[in-house]
Amino acid sequence: MNHFSRLRRNLVVLACSAALAACNCSPAQTPPGSFWEAARKRMVERQLAGRGIKDERVLAAMGKVPRHEFVPQGSRAQAYADRPLPIGQGQTISQPYIVAFMTEAINPRRGQRVLEVGTGSGYQAAVLAELVGEVYTIELLPELAEAANKRLERLGYRNVHVKAGDGYLGWPDKGPFDAVVVTCGAKEIPRPLFEQLKPGGKMVIPVGDSREDQTLRVVTKGSDGKREVRELLPVRFVPLRRSGKVEGK
Ligand code: SAH
Repeated sequence: MNHFSRLRRNLVVLACSAALAACNCSPAQTPPGSFWEAARKRMVERQLAGRGIKDERVLAAMGKVPRHEFVPQGSRAQAYADRPLPIGQGQTISQPYIVAFMTEAINPRRGQRVLEVGTGSGYQAAVLAELVGEVYTIELLPELAEAANKRLERLGYRNVHVKAGDGYLGWPDKGPFDAVVVTCGAKEIPRPLFEQLKPGGKMVIPVGDSREDQTLRVVTKGSDGKREVRELLPVRFVPLRRSGKVEGK
C-alpha cells in the first residue's frame, strides 16, 4: 500500500469513527442506514470480491444483511471490519470472508433446506436465509439461541428456525437437508449430520484436534451415499461442545 492510499484509508477510518462518536450510539440514535450501507459495500468489494468470492448471489446477500445488528452495541464500529468479533458467552461471530466462503462452498440455491450448527449471533443463518428456502439452526447455549431468535424475528427473517440444543445430533425431524453448515470446530465429521444430508448434498465443517489445527472441509454425499471430502483452508473456530464439554473429552 503506498503512502497516499494509506493516508486515504486512515482518513476514512477517522471519518467513520467521528461519525460514530457524533451519533453517541445509543440504540435510538444509530448512524443513518446509508452509513452502514456504505461500510457494507466496502466490505463486499474489498474483503470478499477482492479476495476471490465469485458467486454474485452470495455477494448480494452479504451486501444486504445488516451485520451491525448482530454484534454487541459496543462493537458496532467494527461490525464490517475484516475480523471475527466477540458476541458474549466466550463465543464469536465469524470474519465476513469466512461466512461468505462457507456460504459459497455449499452452492446455495433457492428452495433448499439448510441446517446450521452453531447459531451464535444468527448472522450466518440470516445470510443463508437470503439465498435458500428454509434455514434450521441449532445453538447449544440457550441465552444465545434466544437472543438470536428475537433478533432474526425483529429483522423479519421468517424462514429461519432456531432451536436450543446439541447440534451434533442434527435436527432429524426437519431433515434431510440439501446442505449443512457447521460453524464450530469438530474433532470429526459428526455421523448424524452426514446421515441427515440428502444424496448430492454438501456439508461445510471445520475439523481438527485443536483450535490451532483446524481445516475447513467440504463433505459431499454421493448419489450412492458415499462421502467425498475436500480440504479447503486453515481456520480457527470455537469448539463444538457437547452439553458443556468439549467434544470427545
Ligand atoms: N454462526 C455464528 C457464529 C458461531 S460461533 C454467527 O454467525 O454468529 C460458534 C457457536 O457454536 C457458538 O455460539 C457455540 O455456543 C455454538 N456451539 C458449540 N457447540 C455446539 C453444539 N454442539 N451444538 C450447537 N451449537 C454449538
